[in-house]
Amino acid sequence: MNEPPPGSDRSSALGRLARSEPFLRHDLEGCLRAVTEMASTVLGVARAAVWFFTPERDAIICRDMYAAASASHEQGLVLRAEDHRAYFDAIEQDRIIAAHDAKTDPRTADFGPDYLVPYGIGALLDAPILYHGRLVGIVCCEHTGGPRAWTGEDQVFAASLADFVALALAADETRKAEERARAAERRWRDLFENAVEGMFQMTVDGRLITVNPALAKLLGFASPEAVKAAVANARNLFADPEVPAELDRRLPREKQVTGYEAQVLRQDGHPIWVSLNVRGIYGADGLFELFEGSAQDITHRKRAEQQLAHVSLHDGLTGLPNRTLFMDRLAQAMRRVRAGQSEAVAVFLIDCDNFRLVNNTLGHALADRMLVVLSRRLRAAIGPGDTLARLGGDDFGLMMEGPMEPDGAMRLAEELRQSISEPLELSGHDVFPSVSIATALDHGEREHADELLRDLGIAIHYSKNQGRGRCVAFEQRMRTAPLEALRMQTDLRRAIDRNELELAFQPIVDLRTHQLSGFEALVRWPGGARGPVPPAVFIPIAEESGLIGPLGTWILQAACRWMRGWQDRLGETPLSVSINVSPVQLARADLSDAIEGVVAGTGVDIRRVKLEVTETAFGQDVDIVSSRLATLRDFGFAVMIDDFGTGYSSLSRLHRLPFDGLKIDQSFVQAMRTDADCRDIVRSVIALGQSLGVEIVAEGVEDAETGAALAKLGCRMAQGYHFARPLTAAQADAMVAQMVAGPVLLPAA
Ligand code: C2E
Ligand code: MG
Ligand code: MG
Repeated sequence: MNEPPPGSDRSSALGRLARSEPFLRHDLEGCLRAVTEMASTVLGVARAAVWFFTPERDAIICRDMYAAASASHEQGLVLRAEDHRAYFDAIEQDRIIAAHDAKTDPRTADFGPDYLVPYGIGALLDAPILYHGRLVGIVCCEHTGGPRAWTGEDQVFAASLADFVALALAADETRKAEERARAAERRWRDLFENAVEGMFQMTVDGRLITVNPALAKLLGFASPEAVKAAVANARNLFADPEVPAELDRRLPREKQVTGYEAQVLRQDGHPIWVSLNVRGIYGADGLFELFEGSAQDITHRKRAEQQLAHVSLHDGLTGLPNRTLFMDRLAQAMRRVRAGQSEAVAVFLIDCDNFRLVNNTLGHALADRMLVVLSRRLRAAIGPGDTLARLGGDDFGLMMEGPMEPDGAMRLAEELRQSISEPLELSGHDVFPSVSIATALDHGEREHADELLRDLGIAIHYSKNQGRGRCVAFEQRMRTAPLEALRMQTDLRRAIDRNELELAFQPIVDLRTHQLSGFEALVRWPGGARGPVPPAVFIPIAEESGLIGPLGTWILQAACRWMRGWQDRLGETPLSVSINVSPVQLARADLSDAIEGVVAGTGVDIRRVKLEVTETAFGQDVDIVSSRLATLRDFGFAVMIDDFGTGYSSLSRLHRLPFDGLKIDQSFVQAMRTDADCRDIVRSVIALGQSLGVEIVAEGVEDAETGAALAKLGCRMAQGYHFARPLTAAQADAMVAQMVAGPVLLPAA
């Protein structure tokens, strides 16, 4: 093989190489094999190889070696730079190495014992492979036998083969890049075709260039082609014609618009919600070329959002607007009134009477159904422009805007009330719904909707106090009352703490002798800056707020302490003190403890203390009240029924109650002189008392005639301005001092 093959024209060989299969196919491995074979054939060398540097450039690795003798290829030999310094230094010069006598050539001599000798190599011709101007490897031709004088043509040919390798590398790189591009394209196609998101490209004037199957499906078409055929201008797909213009405005500025939510029309004309991502694509000239983007169907989410918005503003049971929405609409209406755009707002608060009772007797489910029926009736009774809402629980709110007079509002409320109150049947139960309605008008005087609703709340409270099934119009004076009560409660608490309360003592007289028999203790609140407050005003407040506990104890204590002082001075002379006990106080569990404490603490003689309980206390459960009264009597107190005749206690119930005396209410006593009926009542009460063997006290005796008449009817005791007004404690004390000396006669001469 040392002879060049016949007719081997080197340039035609290179031409053949350039047209060979591997070169045309960009097949690097094939190219390298072709190169080594051609080097061996054309140069007539035993072996030819292509070596490449490792990335670290500390070695070269054989990528292909052709051995002519065996006509075989092998790969993988490694030559390290550190083992062959001279050789590596030489090839790094980027020049061809023509070692005519390899064993003596200083560049290749050190290959001798390990390589040249065993393979019988006499001469080496190495051509550098330069790629992108950089040495990446060599083409190496090994001549066996003795030395060989490499000709200039040999060297040029070897260098040409090295250039071919560089070309093959470049082609390989291109192929790889193309493959990568194709893979990327495939991946993208894949994405595009199979994406769940709709994807598109479109021109500035709205022509669709590409559409993926998902977008076609989203728009209700069978295929992307069908979309392109049917949609001449994609801008017309938007339900809102303003949308494309807005995107046109935003895109040049923002380059990319993401998460833009809009409604688009499907093929069947149905609107759906989509979330759009759109960006503008600009050409190399910087001019706008096309839009590209994706669209996602968010109709479900939108619907959920809208439902959520609805739910958060509506009542689940009746479907009516809830308090939040009502307040919002009310505030808007009030703003319009203030701005002079409408005349007035009328609001109605509709409250079911005894709803708790309905709940307890019918159960929640039926009570709920009743509310639904009521809401339907209300809705049927009002106009389309009015807002009806469920404000919570059993409260409905109604708002009307426009001209309205107080009389008109009340008439309307009454009509509503009647239309709602029709009986209804719920699962076999006849239900007679009853509602109370409060109305209030606003002509722009209030700033906030809250104020209007608060006024309604006050009015409904008033209406409830008057009984069920009423309509009440809010009045300004109602507003101060609860506030004043609250303020009074605070002041009263402070007055109790500071011991600012006082006791008055009103004498009770024996009608046969006109002698002082006892005192009724009456609490007094000087009231500080506000002036004296009558007990008829502050006792109910104390009862409502729970202050009656400490207040009652204070009264009991103060009265017993005075009595203790007087009993010490009077010895055996009889004198009693009557103390009022409120029904609320009577119902408190701690009453017995309080009494026990006071009795023990003051050392009062219990037989001198009478407790007055108003007849209204017996409106409650008779058994409970009688057991309470029994407890008090067990202590040794006498129990008097106060204000007798005003409450509900029927005479038949009376004998079941443990008591020691009756106080005839002053309204009967005062009317006795003019009203025969009242005289009859007083007479029968006295007779009843005599038959039961209890003490009778007449209250409110303001003149001598009445006193005389009572005495004639057999009434033993009396109390009233005719005998004495309530006295200060000091005056009462002075009267006791007088009594020690002898009987005190009243009225005083
Ligand atoms: P009451 O227990 O029936 O007290 C009698 C009320 O009639 C007292 O009014 C007394 O001043 C008034 N009065 C006495 N004689 C006459 C008269 O001839 N003509 C007129 N017009 N009135 C007369 P007061 O002190 O204003 O007490 C009103 C009510 O307040 C009492 O009615 C009682 O229910 C309650 N109250 C007063 N003090 C206390 C108390 O210490 N504890 C409790 N729980 N309630 C009290
Ligand atoms: Mg009394
Ligand atoms: Mg009384």
